[in-house]
Amino acid sequence: MIPKTMHNEGNYIVSLGKVARWLGEQAESLGVEIFPGFPASEILFNELGAVKGVATGEMGVSASGERKGTYEPGMELHAKYTVFAEGCRGHLGKQLIEQYALDHQKSPQHYGIGLKELWKIEPARHERGLVVHGAGWPLSENSATGGSFLYHLEDNYVSLGLIVDLNYEQPFLSPYEELQRYKTHPRIRHYLEGGKRISYGARAITKGGFNSLPKMSVPGGFVIGCNAGTLNFSKIKGTHTAMKSGMIAAETIFGVLTDGDPGGKDHTHYQSNVDISWLYTELKSSRNFGPALHKFGTYAGGAFNYLDQNWFRG
Ligand SMILES: Cc1cc2nc3c(=O)[nH]c(=O)nc-3n(C[C@H](O)[C@H](O)[C@H](O)COP(=O)(O)OP(=O)(O)OC[C@H]3O[C@@H](n4cnc5c(N)ncnc54)[C@H](O)[C@@H]3O)c2cc1C
Repeated sequence: MIPKTMHNEGNYIVSLGKVARWLGEQAESLGVEIFPGFPASEILFNELGAVKGVATGEMGVSASGERKGTYEPGMELHAKYTVFAEGCRGHLGKQLIEQYALDHQKSPQHYGIGLKELWKIEPARHERGLVVHGAGWPLSENSATGGSFLYHLEDNYVSLGLIVDLNYEQPFLSPYEELQRYKTHPRIRHYLEGGKRISYGARAITKGGFNSLPKMSVPGGFVIGCNAGTLNFSKIKGTHTAMKSGMIAAETIFGVLTDGDPGGKDHTHYQSNVDISWLYTELKSSRNFGPALHKFGTYAGGAFNYLDQNWFRG
């Protein structure tokens, strides 16, 4: 009775931090300049209202507003096309979505908070490659919804976490405490006993999927990945879809620049390129997953999703 989107046969369990560092090295070896630690703080527009780049914020300013010895002024980065990939509800991305009404006639976006911990566990309890997905308890006790995951990585590491939909009505619900309760479930506790938590963190996720996906191009730019909302919530996975949306943006930009494009245009055919890719097919086939859980609840919605995904292929 598990929706097939929750099956992970053939998938790799990796550290996203390591993958991102490796990708950064590959990009730099191809001549790409990476400016880590310099957040883009402002969108720059040309006289026609098209995006012409971003400005980075000032660095080395004290809490009281004074310039410290490490002060560096912000700088303007100009480009023919700028790709915004800030992750969930990035502050520049949300400005573009509002300014260009990119979400016109789309369903309202949905958000969740994802909490994650990395554990080193006893070798005897480690089952490399095992994935345990869950829904229901402990959130169901507060009529809240979401999902959990537990991945066995290599070297006796386990990554586990809980996604809590940000529509819960119980004002005292604490997503952090819910994660702590989740770990006491016998199936989860079994792996963690005798182990040690190495690190932890939390981050928002954009989970409206296909129904909420905004138009992803603007004059002079593109909004991609979780900044737009490409995560597939039925899998609790958004890395592959974020990367695909970026690859299609890169191919689209390469194509137009090779043809001598001066920049600043709204290349709506990016959307068509997305629509003919597996990204569109995958997100479309998962479009009923979240709505079913919201409408019918965890158990009836889960049964609906089993039928929808496994029998009718979304
Ligand atoms: C708890 C949890 C577990 C998850 N598990 C999985 C999983 O197992 N598999 C999977 O595929 N997906 C998983 N996801 C989802 C996945 O992490 C995201 O879908 C994916 O990382 C989105 O990639 P992205 O590049 O669009 O955004 P992000 O990975 O969020 O990257 C955006 C980057 O931009 C930076 N940034 C933001 N604003 C600015 C700015 N103004 N200037 C400069 N930099 C900026 C951010 O610091 C960040 O480094 C999980 C998410 C959570 C929260």
